[in-house]
Amino acid sequence: MGGWRKAYPFINRIIKRILSNTVGKITKCMMCGSEKLFPFLDLGFHPHSDQFRADPMQPEMTYPLGLQFCEDCQLVQLTYLVGREELFTEDYLYESSITETANKHWQEFADDVCGVVKPTGLVVEIGSNDGTLLQKFQEKGLEVMGIDPCLEVTQIANKKGITTLTNFFNKQVVSAIGRKASLIIGSNVFAHLDDYQKFGRNIKSLLADDGVLVLESPYIMNFIKDMQYDTCYHQHMLYTGLIPMKKYFEGLGMEIFDVKFTPIHGGSFRCYIARKGKRLQTMAELNAIEKEIVNISVLSEFAVNVQENRYKLIEILNKFANEGKTIVAISSPAKGQTLLNYTGAGKYLAFATDKSKLKQGRYTPGTHLLIKSDADVPDGAVGLILAWNFFEEIKRNNPQIKTWVVPNPIPYVKEI
Ligand SMILES: [Zn+2]
Repeated sequence: MGGWRKAYPFINRIIKRILSNTVGKITKCMMCGSEKLFPFLDLGFHPHSDQFRADPMQPEMTYPLGLQFCEDCQLVQLTYLVGREELFTEDYLYESSITETANKHWQEFADDVCGVVKPTGLVVEIGSNDGTLLQKFQEKGLEVMGIDPCLEVTQIANKKGITTLTNFFNKQVVSAIGRKASLIIGSNVFAHLDDYQKFGRNIKSLLADDGVLVLESPYIMNFIKDMQYDTCYHQHMLYTGLIPMKKYFEGLGMEIFDVKFTPIHGGSFRCYIARKGKRLQTMAELNAIEKEIVNISVLSEFAVNVQENRYKLIEILNKFANEGKTIVAISSPAKGQTLLNYTGAGKYLAFATDKSKLKQGRYTPGTHLLIKSDADVPDGAVGLILAWNFFEEIKRNNPQIKTWVVPNPIPYVKEI
């Protein structure tokens, strides 16, 4: 009996971990709660696209990856949820300061947000990564605080003098901060939450009465138009536009008072949100909503085109392989892993590269390609660009590559 008692907390911990790790099929809209869901895209089973392993022989879990549409609020979301503890581990190797393009974008973000919001108090960033964006706000004389669950990046941020808490954005973090924020920002983070009701409650308790929340996310209309199906992976739960966001924030007693569109990550939109009636509304949102057309027929056509894209990409790679060319995946972002695993392109590739030293020497998830540096790419090699959102910069950094394969909107070859 005593032994059982001793064992109980241990077993309890394991059970809790199993329950939190594999959440399963998503049967309700994550933003509005509706059960009127229409699944339209099935990409098969995929491993976690951010788990770059040191040992390719380690067993690897895979989970269903697909998308469904909410007929009530027009949200596109995953069909299957994997727990956050499993997804955002210390192996999460994205450093936001790594590209020049991103760095320029953060400056524009800070300038634009400060111009619209004119914050005077604390600025909090959710998913603050290595602190690159917060630094821009700090340079404007504002007090900043970051929140990120990944220890590897929060250590980098804290060393730079950006106070950063290593945690998810939750109730405990809000009490640890202990005061109100005049501005809360989240770039590329809103699509990565797993409980939108809790998120809403925590935002409201952290945000000052006249405070502003700014969320920047990839835009659903670019996702559809530019065939960005590779941006579908388990950490990226939502594919949203203004219509679902508007409904969601209205439910919280808040409203979107301005919107801006930016080219980052293949096309993103930046929403300015405040408590209802606190800020003057611009016309930008209304104008954009009219052009936002997401429905079953548009998404069904998108799904057919995804399959055609796969055939087209394999046809191109197969041709180069038959000519005896060395083909290398250039850059190894999470989205590239969906592309490689879904299309089967991995078997045509000699290896992959990445600018991040944290990824070099590791293996891509599912396809197990060794990640090297760009300097290891031999002359005459064909480069399959995976981080297409940074293509111009990557092209400039790799003058030795004369032939590129670009996977979207329709796979094509670009000779330099
Ligand atoms: Zn919905």
